[in-house]
Amino acid sequence: MKIMIVGSGGREHALAWKLAQSPTVDEIFVAPGNGGTAAIAENIAIPDSHVPALARFAKERGVDLAVVGPEVPLVLGLSNAMAKQGIPCFGPDAYAAQLEGSKSFAKLVMEQTGVPTARSGTFDDYESAKAYLDDHPVPVVIKADGLAAGKGVTVARTREEAEKALDMCMRKQSFGMAGERVVIEEALEGEEASFLALCDGETVVPLASSQDHKPIGEGDTGPNTGGMGAYSPAPILPESELEKVCDLVARPIVRAMAASGHPFKGVLYAGLMVKDGAYKVLEYNVRFGDPECQPLLARLDSDLAELMLACVEGRLDPSMIRWKPQSSCCVVMASRGYPGSYATGKVIEGIEKAEDLEGVTVFHAGTRLEAGRIVTSGGRVLGVTALGDDLKSAQTLAYQAVDRISFEGSYVRRDIGDKGLAR
Ligand code: ATP
Repeated sequence: MKIMIVGSGGREHALAWKLAQSPTVDEIFVAPGNGGTAAIAENIAIPDSHVPALARFAKERGVDLAVVGPEVPLVLGLSNAMAKQGIPCFGPDAYAAQLEGSKSFAKLVMEQTGVPTARSGTFDDYESAKAYLDDHPVPVVIKADGLAAGKGVTVARTREEAEKALDMCMRKQSFGMAGERVVIEEALEGEEASFLALCDGETVVPLASSQDHKPIGEGDTGPNTGGMGAYSPAPILPESELEKVCDLVARPIVRAMAASGHPFKGVLYAGLMVKDGAYKVLEYNVRFGDPECQPLLARLDSDLAELMLACVEGRLDPSMIRWKPQSSCCVVMASRGYPGSYATGKVIEGIEKAEDLEGVTVFHAGTRLEAGRIVTSGGRVLGVTALGDDLKSAQTLAYQAVDRISFEGSYVRRDIGDKGLAR
């Protein structure tokens, strides 16, 4: 089978790494890929947002299954474009991808299906949004409706911050069309966890739990990033709760999509706020999280190609998903300055030495191959992922591996997994 993976991050390297282990997979293309995918697959120089070019390539090369990593191509209709070429796609169509691409759409579906979430209002004009603030005390959360690369959400602690965020979205148009509409919602308290499920349009099966670390600084301080590390399983979401959470936050959504004629095939990800054993949805993503994908795939014991085919062919069965009993921990090595500006082109040393440690896999994100050497090319550079008998051993091993890798201006959070250990 020929597989085409779309995307260029650590998630896509992990997908390529796991799919390459399947005996049914003969060839893997990654568009556009990175320095890590280049070593195990063929990188194709098509940007992940160039939907017609991606579908054309897949058709010309006889791709049997397309696997879409990031949200942008899904929201732009890559799954629809692949379907037109007769190519099955792991990832929802443009309609269902609005669950991530439009926060007001997600809120509406949650309301219609009774999924617990923060109270909110949706606004298309500045004056009525501002009037809503008059009736709702801070803290409030201001969200640009559309995709804003993780920058469109402000948790406003003061009225002034809330108005500034509204102004950025609706008057200054800092997020372009994505901020023309805003969702204002009640700020929830608790601890965040990631709930992911595989969906075949009808059947929904939970994946193991995981927890991301979004802020740049230790102790969850500083600005949000794409994610500085993740581990699995996450004790905040014990295995005994997964079916209940799936019934609460995933199955109603998948049923609603099927009823609208848009069966959801792929990964549905609910970002949860957990407090005193109660769950509320902060957001939906319509794909694997990055970095959650890396520790999850490190633990997955089943054939990923077989699972993905079962999803697109509507024959997913819970017995197909098996996990290694170990814990996994992924520590992101970033370029100093990220999520602001940072230097690139720095030579990375020590990846092989890190992978000499048993149980360690180094997933590339912002890297490229340059004259036979791996150099940095992005903010999040590597996802150093370790398997251990328990979370503590996985964490210790991941940091031992991190300490074998060097590049100028590297930055890591030293507390990935601490929240899980504290429970
Ligand atoms: P990303 O691309 O990083 O997933 P996003 O732009 O899709 O982000 P959300 O995930 O909805 O936005 O929100 C980003 C972060 O803001 C959440 O991870 C959470 O920390 C915080 N947040 C969002 N909604 C709320 C809320 N109602 N109460 C408290 N915090 C919230």
